[in-house]
Amino acid sequence: MEKLFVLGTGNAQAVHCYNTCFAMKKEDEYFLTDAGGGNGILLALEKQQIPLEKIHHVFVTHAHNDHILGMVWIVRMIATAMNKGSYEGDLHIYCHRELVDTIKTLSCLTIGKKFTAHFDRRILFHVVEDGGQKEILGDRFTFFDIGSTKEKQFGCSIHMDNGVHLAFPGDEPYREALLPYVRSARWLLHEAFCLYSQREKFKPYEKHHSTVMDACKLAEELGIPNLVLWHTEDRDLAHRKENYTAEGREYYHGNLFVPDDGEVITF
Ligand SMILES: [Zn+2]
Repeated sequence: MEKLFVLGTGNAQAVHCYNTCFAMKKEDEYFLTDAGGGNGILLALEKQQIPLEKIHHVFVTHAHNDHILGMVWIVRMIATAMNKGSYEGDLHIYCHRELVDTIKTLSCLTIGKKFTAHFDRRILFHVVEDGGQKEILGDRFTFFDIGSTKEKQFGCSIHMDNGVHLAFPGDEPYREALLPYVRSARWLLHEAFCLYSQREKFKPYEKHHSTVMDACKLAEELGIPNLVLWHTEDRDLAHRKENYTAEGREYYHGNLFVPDDGEVITF
């Protein structure tokens, strides 16, 4: 992968930005991770000039609505392109076993048969196992169960053919058990629900989320040189980058990214 396209940066209930999801570009293909909570994914892709015809690989982390409902739209629009003859090849969806049924069921209940008829024909599901590896677009992906107590969720660690190692432990705080996947990462994509200084206001810990301070301390401790923070509250987006960066700098000395929706980060 060469670039990270930030499609959304919000938590589940964010309405002033899109839910956290992203695409990574390799040559002229895109690898999509999650799809947010609705058809906002289509506008986010359009704004970044990412054509659906160039998305053949999608990873879905878990069944929460802020990550999965946009998948129904991805399926619908790509199936439409397949029906029109404008989409070449197959769509590959990577997810844990239970999610296969969830994505199929949500789609079958909410969009027509002319779209879902492509399931298992041209829309193919690849079940990811804990620790299982797959080569996708020439990069080596290792998928892992993040050990969520809320909802079964997978993250991934990517060893890219350009030498970059990126770790993405989903939308929950890093756990010690994930160290083997995160240890040598040069990039960490981590959730930060809010500032530590605003923990009383947003109550991140009771929602199983972390703060900017927590994520920054972690990346500092692990010696990871690049940290991207997202999956945040959306109360003051105009100052989020400034405020989060200011708090983060006290605990982390690497490159800290607090992207807005629509930003592109080059590895
Ligand atoms: Zn989420």
